[in-house]
Amino acid sequence: MAYQQQLRFQTTGHRHMRDITAEVAEAVARSGVRTGVAHVFAVGSTAAVGLIEFEPGLVHDLPELLDRLIPPSRQYGHEQTWHDGNGHSHLQATLLGPSVGVPVSEGRLVLGTWQQIFHIECDIRPRQRTVVVTVLGEKDL
Ligand code: ZN
Repeated sequence: MAYQQQLRFQTTGHRHMRDITAEVAEAVARSGVRTGVAHVFAVGSTAAVGLIEFEPGLVHDLPELLDRLIPPSRQYGHEQTWHDGNGHSHLQATLLGPSVGVPVSEGRLVLGTWQQIFHIECDIRPRQRTVVVTVLGEKDL
């Protein structure tokens, strides 16, 4: 069976990371799926999702690393098309990727103790965001 739910939230702008593990776990619980997978997808080309130990150090380090690899200050081809100042945002989001799949076992997300699902805002201003959670699997085996 398939169950789908959208998470909606406001971000505070560039570098904002949000722990969405509890919201995804809630969607899994609501789905009733016992064995399967939870697919988590960030809608929009300037945001991404991933897995990390969600603690202050890494919540600082990851956006900082992205800004070092793909600096906001550099000139990107995207600017010549749109002049919207977010060439780095698109590239950072693409580098991380828009989705993750997390196994569901015995009705729960299979995650390490220090492994959380995050959403990261790569755009330069606060945005209203949507994350689609699709839970696929069997209710009972
Ligand atoms: Zn743009």
